[in-house]
Amino acid sequence: MRLLRLVAAAGIAMAAYAQTADVAVINARIYTVNPKQPRASAMAVRQGLVAAMGDDISRQIGPATKVIDAHGAAIIPGLIDSHGHVEGLGTFLDDLDFRGVASEQEIADRVRTAAKTARPGEWILGRAWDQNLWPSRQFPTSESLSAAAPDNPVALTRVDGHAIWVNRKAMEMADLNAATQDPAGGKILRDPSGKPTGVLIDRARGLVEKKIPAPTQEQVEHRIRQALEQCARLGITTVHDAGAGASAIDAYHALLQKGQMPIRSYVMIGGAGPLLDSWLTKGPEIGDYLTVRSIKLVADGALGSRGAAMIEPYSDEPANRGLLITSRETIRAIAERAVPRGFQVNTHAIGDAANRAAMDAYGDVLKGPNDKRFRIEHAQIVAPEDFAKFKRYSVLASMQATHATSDMPWAQTRVGSERIKGAYAWQTFLKLGVHLPNGSDFPVESPNPMWGLYAAITRQDKSGQPAGGWFPEQRLSREEALRSWTIEGAYAAFEENRKGSLEAGKLADFIMLSDDIMTMPADNIWKTKVTMTVVGGKVVYQQ
Ligand SMILES: [Zn+2]
Repeated sequence: MRLLRLVAAAGIAMAAYAQTADVAVINARIYTVNPKQPRASAMAVRQGLVAAMGDDISRQIGPATKVIDAHGAAIIPGLIDSHGHVEGLGTFLDDLDFRGVASEQEIADRVRTAAKTARPGEWILGRAWDQNLWPSRQFPTSESLSAAAPDNPVALTRVDGHAIWVNRKAMEMADLNAATQDPAGGKILRDPSGKPTGVLIDRARGLVEKKIPAPTQEQVEHRIRQALEQCARLGITTVHDAGAGASAIDAYHALLQKGQMPIRSYVMIGGAGPLLDSWLTKGPEIGDYLTVRSIKLVADGALGSRGAAMIEPYSDEPANRGLLITSRETIRAIAERAVPRGFQVNTHAIGDAANRAAMDAYGDVLKGPNDKRFRIEHAQIVAPEDFAKFKRYSVLASMQATHATSDMPWAQTRVGSERIKGAYAWQTFLKLGVHLPNGSDFPVESPNPMWGLYAAITRQDKSGQPAGGWFPEQRLSREEALRSWTIEGAYAAFEENRKGSLEAGKLADFIMLSDDIMTMPADNIWKTKVTMTVVGGKVVYQQ
């Protein structure tokens, strides 16, 4: 009898326990991005999902519930960066960073420190040196680096990516000497006797860079993991990896298997070739942490280097229209194979000619409204008559707000006063009803989504210039900006029923902020810090 009562009591306790939350968030200012219930102060999480959202969830709190008291802090859905280069960010984090360093000696000192822990013969890589910041303002020579690292090859990329600075060991490995000719499109800096001094410009970089070994699988895995960890710290809970190769996808699988993915990844297969062929044969892979169901193509280059393909010549270089790298026919042929196998096609297009080629290829295959969710990545400069095609073929404009604020000092010089009206034209797309996921394109831009939200809302640089914003009619409201980093990113990955807003039944991916970005003065939004990142109900980062 007594035993029976105990069992019965345990049964009741078990039932009650099953009803209580694993995690409860209280005293928060939650912006849910759910139009039916935009605000709440408390949220219950059970088994990785939002179980309840409201102002009183006290009945969900049991003895085993982890209670997070937000003390009035703002909470928003975990941010979705719809375009980042994950392995690229990991590599960027691996390399020595010399941004802002004010002397050649300081760089050499840091290389010396790195050489102490490097394996014999291991390459020491770095980036972002700028001799214009040094007292001499002169290009450096190999001597300082050779003294710092006599036994390890060193290659340090200049801040603009157009030159590398190397040591003696690297030059030996590349057989670089007075007899070496300058390659076409490149220049080897030399002393009066013709001996290379250690700086290689443009195409000459390849003489040394081709000697740098490809990363091992272990290194690729390490880079991807540390990039995802960096994303977690910045409040990104899903990243769309804008072009992964075979080794990166293998690394994702390894991390997934080991339970070492702190955040979720939506992977685009990088380009055509055997990797794509094998995926088209086996079909998409769809999961909560890792999904591979899209193809990344590249139609042209970038605006800064005038590689973007333009319908008419550049305004500041009348003989140049940039270069279309992938033709309409090629994009169409890949799209035709992708659709029946259930793959999405996402094409990088910056210039108006590239946007037109990609759009017309999509139109050839999609023919009208559809739910294939093809995307144009960047959609940076679009001819006026081509905007409507995005709506006609249900194509998403996957844009990156910080590209606008990085490019604004010179973009109009490149394309002139007419074409600039169709550039970074976020509101033009929104008014047509085109989906607008946002992202950063890291490591080209910072992965910090607070910088992106700030750029989207203000169209100003961090010092508040230009006053009122650059082409302010294209700014996003705070709500639109938040949607573009949450529910629109989810939609861009066919995941809007699973994430992108905080409501019962969706994944419990959310972040806590140091300030309320929805009400604070706009000029400080970029300074906002993420104080907690939660993925599937688990705290993956806490300040
Ligand atoms: Zn990109």
